[in-house]
Amino acid sequence: MDKPNLLIVGAGGVGAVAAQKAAQYHVEFGKVVFASRTAAKPNAIAADAQKRRGEPGAAPLLEVRTVDAKDVGAMTALIRETQSDIVLNVATPYCNVPIMDSCTEAGAHYIDTAVAEDEYVENAAAPWYENFEWPRRPAFEKKGLSAILGIGFDPGVVNVFCAHAKKHLFDRIDTVDIIDVNGGDHGQYFATNFDPDTNLREIKEDVIYWEDGAFKTIPHHSKEMEVTLPEVGTHKVYSMGHDELHSLPKLLPEAKRIEFWMGFGERYLQVFNVLDRLGLLSSAPIEVEGVRLAPLKMVKAVLPDPSTLAKGYSGKVCIGCDVRGVKDGQERRSFVYSTCSHKSCYDDVGSQAISYTTGVPALTAAILLARGIWSPGTMVNVEELDPDPFLDLMPEIGIGWETQELPLDGSWPGRRDG
Ligand code: NDP
Repeated sequence: MDKPNLLIVGAGGVGAVAAQKAAQYHVEFGKVVFASRTAAKPNAIAADAQKRRGEPGAAPLLEVRTVDAKDVGAMTALIRETQSDIVLNVATPYCNVPIMDSCTEAGAHYIDTAVAEDEYVENAAAPWYENFEWPRRPAFEKKGLSAILGIGFDPGVVNVFCAHAKKHLFDRIDTVDIIDVNGGDHGQYFATNFDPDTNLREIKEDVIYWEDGAFKTIPHHSKEMEVTLPEVGTHKVYSMGHDELHSLPKLLPEAKRIEFWMGFGERYLQVFNVLDRLGLLSSAPIEVEGVRLAPLKMVKAVLPDPSTLAKGYSGKVCIGCDVRGVKDGQERRSFVYSTCSHKSCYDDVGSQAISYTTGVPALTAAILLARGIWSPGTMVNVEELDPDPFLDLMPEIGIGWETQELPLDGSWPGRRDG
């Protein structure tokens, strides 16, 4: 059988990594098409990938196209014209719905890294997957098409870590704390590591977490703790709403609590609070001199493009799941995690670690789908799939992972400043 053609949509920080890795593992696919709203970014990334991975005089590794991914007709036509079999959506979450609909229309498999959101609605009710994704499951199922939802790092690999913990490490899982610490320094006064619109909005919104069989809501930055993680050391982390919390309770219905925590530095919090109090993080459009615009879109326009942070970015990230429960009648606490250095990501593909830790898992999933190993023929959240082939392959594509046994009293061994 011919190898499937891959279409990557979105040429931001994450799209750049996915495209670079698709060029590196081109042998897994027929052709690889790389599309975005405008041509300049995908063209520059494709030229760089060609320089890094291409054979002299050989055909281009990436075929560049432009498309408005919010236009179902244009997306459907692109999928058909390029005969794409798998669509990897790494544009914004506001494009998820039209891209999903064009996949079912044109007959292509679908992969994404973030849950769909309504662009101008804040604090939507949980679980978010019920709003846009899960109602589309019958459309994928009817045509035997696969849709793999949420396979970046968080959401993504952390969901796979939970599936791994359930399959191999625990008989019963009581709590999961997903912890994300970026111990790196990009040297900018203030910047977000991925799309500022999505990132600042998820920090600003009320925190949603799972406890005692229900979703709970608390104000942002109202709950904190200190953790000491491998490679990055001791950091303050804050409870935060995050995509994976909207699907993981289905995998772990017995868990008493599932919560997400992210580390923030003091400077970041100061600037964030000022922007928030001034109303500049609002997704609700306002009218200024006849122009209607959400203040957050304006903030995005003046912040550094996340893909430009990579050069000179020092330090590492550590993201993992602190899982507590029981194995063979004994209490157990295991931290399943990955670390990644910004510099090694830059050396590999010219990107920083946040983009890298999203693009590499997404491309790993695309390879498993192309090989027919992850091929559910319906819509799934990534934790519904067998975690083993993914965790075997991801280190080869670029990110390793480990498990550390932790003290049962909830402490973290050895305070270390990263
Ligand atoms: P960026 O904003 O840097 O890039 C988004 C890209 O999508 C841009 O190239 C943009 O084009 C393109 N795009 C936007 N709208 C359209 C459209 N209508 N049609 C075609 N192309 C479009 O985002 P990131 O690369 O940082 O993030 C990409 C995705 O990855 C987001 O959904 C984000 O939430 C997700 N993510 C997931 C993570 C995880 O761990 N799961 C972590 C980090 C990100 P243009 O350049 O013209 O604006």
